[in-house]
Amino acid sequence: MPKILVIEDDIQVLSSLSELLSSAGFQVNTAENGLKGLKSALDNQPDLVICDVIMPGLDGYGVLKELRAHRLTVNIPFIFLTGLASRQDQRQGMNLGADDYLLKPFTLEEVLAAINTRLAKQASVTQHYVTELKEAEERLNSLLFYDNATRLPNRVLLGQRFNWIEEVAGSHAAVTLLSISIDRFNRINESLGFIGGDNLLRLVGARLQRLVADSDTIARIQAGQFAILLPSADKTQAHNLARIILAELAEPFDLDGQELFVTASIGIALGPKDGAELDTLLKNADVALNHVQERGGNFFHFYSTELSHNIIEKVNLQANLRQALQRDEFRVYYQPQINLVTGQVVGVEALIRWEHPERGLVLPGEFIPLAEETNLIGPMSEWVLSTACAHVKAWQEKGLTNLRVAVNLSGRQLTEEDLRQKVIQILETTGLSPDSLELELTESVLLRDMGAAISILSELRALGIHVAIDDFGTGYSSLSQLRHLPFDTLKVDRSFVQNVGEKAEPSAITAAIIQMAHTLNLLVIAEGVETLEELDFLRQTSCDEIQGYFVSRPLPGDEFLEFLVNYKPEAFLQKITNFVK
Ligand code: C2E
Ligand code: MG
Ligand code: MG
Repeated sequence: MPKILVIEDDIQVLSSLSELLSSAGFQVNTAENGLKGLKSALDNQPDLVICDVIMPGLDGYGVLKELRAHRLTVNIPFIFLTGLASRQDQRQGMNLGADDYLLKPFTLEEVLAAINTRLAKQASVTQHYVTELKEAEERLNSLLFYDNATRLPNRVLLGQRFNWIEEVAGSHAAVTLLSISIDRFNRINESLGFIGGDNLLRLVGARLQRLVADSDTIARIQAGQFAILLPSADKTQAHNLARIILAELAEPFDLDGQELFVTASIGIALGPKDGAELDTLLKNADVALNHVQERGGNFFHFYSTELSHNIIEKVNLQANLRQALQRDEFRVYYQPQINLVTGQVVGVEALIRWEHPERGLVLPGEFIPLAEETNLIGPMSEWVLSTACAHVKAWQEKGLTNLRVAVNLSGRQLTEEDLRQKVIQILETTGLSPDSLELELTESVLLRDMGAAISILSELRALGIHVAIDDFGTGYSSLSQLRHLPFDTLKVDRSFVQNVGEKAEPSAITAAIIQMAHTLNLLVIAEGVETLEELDFLRQTSCDEIQGYFVSRPLPGDEFLEFLVNYKPEAFLQKITNFVK
């Protein structure tokens, strides 16, 4: 029922008008002077005001002026009721913002017509206003709750969804949080540019969305980072989902006709065990995520308290690492590579070690990721390269003329502009022939940016240097993907070599890899050979070279020279020949 306020000092007019309007179905408030009318309007905010012009004290014009000046009453339709009829009076009222004039004496029809016209107009204005407000609210919500690039929920909405779960299931509800990060997104973003980077994120977001149920929330929480919140905590389910996500994201993305390969890393936290609050869960999922990233990415890991302790350890280690080079704490260890036809040591892989003053020998898996995070990887790698080249040159001069040395390069180095120049300089300083040097790179590093990889590898090979793909099989790439890359050697990862000859599946895979590599004219080295069974199988499948504990662990330089001096190819071949399954 619309509320009408009548302000009129003539009590008779006031009561008859009030009666009239009440019987016409309006709710009526009355005031017998301007001040009371103003107060009533502010207190009750009527839908329409009918007001006399001439009143003692605050007159009708004064009331209108005040109402229009006030936020709460500025839009209330206002009709003057007056015996004054001159045009000038009317204009004065209209100028102040009156909507209509009713001249006394008036008929009921006139009053109702004026009121209804005003109310109808007001309703349409209000409707418009409501629609606009709703649109503005939606815009605001979209800014507040959704990520601009992907249109996925953002961190704020993720928080709300988490609260909903708690409302339904109670606090300390079982939830799973997956933190998913595109590996090396910053670098991808740099090379694709802003728009390309956003496009990629949209595509990634859309793929992720397809993999989860409606009750799950996917949010974009940072540059290249997404989160998935599941309203249950089931380790097996999380495990399966993570695997599916990695496999889906490994499929190429089509960016305006250009094929792009990315990998992702996933950290998983299960609530309430790994945190009762969303913030804690996010933090712990990130700890697990970092753990994966430090190991090269493209995998997933569950959070555990141990990981948090590792972080403290890591900070300490990183501080020490800075001084390790100056304090001469790094060593290069050497592991022989044996030709399976001749039994000769044909190559040697240089593997870095850190002789930590308190912790003893630290393996590269632990400190290379740290060195990559800081800028230490560059000087450290140069040190390994020049040390290894100098050692091998010295051994060659002792008569081992055909010995080749393999040195590992990290992904960071591949993007260094002066890599080629640095390698040339080290070869010149040490006097080693480029032909005696092999550089090892992992497939995931090369696939990150095929174009750049092709040009750098071509440059290195033009110098006469060999290029090997390390850990083949762990980066989810196929040989056909790698075919475009210029390289000489394929190193089959230990995980494929393990148990060959004994178990059917790894045997079949490894045999197929060796065969395919040979059709591509690649030299094949099997890594991590530990048993005679493995060795026998590899020789039967025509693998070219092997490396592994079966022959020797990586050794310090002087011990390696001793190994070389005592090594007998015939004895090695004899062992295989004598092997009976
Ligand atoms: P990688 O290049 O695949 O090196 C082979 C790893 O397998 C070495 O571990 C080696 O000790 C180990 N290995 C060799 N034979 C066997 C075996 O029969 N059984 C088992 N279980 N393991 C075996 P390491 O020395 O801990 O090196 C780990 C990784 O660290 C290397 O993998 C390489 O990617 C990286 N790395 C080592 N040195 C350097 C370096 O100077 N620069 C860079 N950028 N990375 C390096
Ligand atoms: Mg290697
Ligand atoms: Mg390897």
